[in-house]
Amino acid sequence: MAKSMDQQHPVKAFGWAARDSSGHLSPYNFSRRSTGENDVAFKVLYCGVCHSDLHSIKNEWGGSTYPMVPGHEMVGVVTEVGSKVTKFNVGDRVGVGCMVWSCRSCDSCSSDLENYCLGMILTYNAKYHDGTITYGGYSNLMVADEHFIVSIPDNLPLERAGPLLCAGITVYSPLRYYGLDKPGLHVAVVGLGGLGHMAVKFAKAMGLKVTVISTSPNKKQEAIERLGADSFLVSRDQEQLRSAIGTMDGIIDTVSAAHHLPPLLGLLKTNGKLVVVGAPEKPFELPAFQLIYGRKLVGGSGIGGMKETQEMIDFASKHNITSEVEVIRMDYINTAMERLAKADVRYRFVIDIGNSLQTTE
Ligand SMILES: [Zn+2]
Ligand SMILES: [Zn+2]
Repeated sequence: MAKSMDQQHPVKAFGWAARDSSGHLSPYNFSRRSTGENDVAFKVLYCGVCHSDLHSIKNEWGGSTYPMVPGHEMVGVVTEVGSKVTKFNVGDRVGVGCMVWSCRSCDSCSSDLENYCLGMILTYNAKYHDGTITYGGYSNLMVADEHFIVSIPDNLPLERAGPLLCAGITVYSPLRYYGLDKPGLHVAVVGLGGLGHMAVKFAKAMGLKVTVISTSPNKKQEAIERLGADSFLVSRDQEQLRSAIGTMDGIIDTVSAAHHLPPLLGLLKTNGKLVVVGAPEKPFELPAFQLIYGRKLVGGSGIGGMKETQEMIDFASKHNITSEVEVIRMDYINTAMERLAKADVRYRFVIDIGNSLQTTE
């Protein structure tokens, strides 16, 4: 006989959920599964607010199901481990990023690319393999298979480490995969938000020359003095762009608003690579001649596999790389979403779940 939902998910949990495409978040009681033999359960202490949370609660990409508890940059402390768990113990600092399951047998999974597995299951707004709906990190506790748990080294402050799990790996993985990680190469980071500011930090730690390209001239000082970029271009300033034509080995494009690629392609050297990690709703126009002359490549990249995610966290630990964050209380989240929609955050909101999520019981 099929198990009822209560039998499958007997552990009471509490979070904030969106109930419809207005995206308004409010307190929500739900439940999670008990800790299985391969599972790690943890108390969530902080959760980053990713731009895709905003898209998802408002159903801007379609496919949203409600009630939805968003959040895929959650970190906390282990409270229970299953009998077959080998990598984690109670009290360990851990996190969960964008995914909680993959098939573990396809070509992608066999190459440590669970993120590209067709059977990959997202941390929230997805159907788990037991038929239940996945709920994210805007909640007091989490349980996941240990394969999808990341260890957070002691020197990384938890509230600043959460955003590494989505924003961090999203920019780290393409720098590595596309070979844009060799000291001395010149890479541009387009857009200086949650993703972009992490890209600058990782690229600098890899020894690259980094140029930030942004629509806002007022970000120049911060990009250079606070984040360590070498130079700054205002994307609307034709003269500035012209002066940089043919100077870049790679470009990490983090912009999720509609924009044109041709001016960026012009900045690349021969064999240069433009990597798209932002996701504008409308398709790009891609002029063939710009790719042909100079053998240029346009590619994409989405988060990273579990092995690489841990490698990224360990690299961040070694180089003291963390996200610039604005820590907020849970009940500030709807205001935070309004501000995020206007890009009014430097550079990531992080919810102080541990101290500000009030359970109703
Ligand atoms: Zn994200
Ligand atoms: Zn797979």
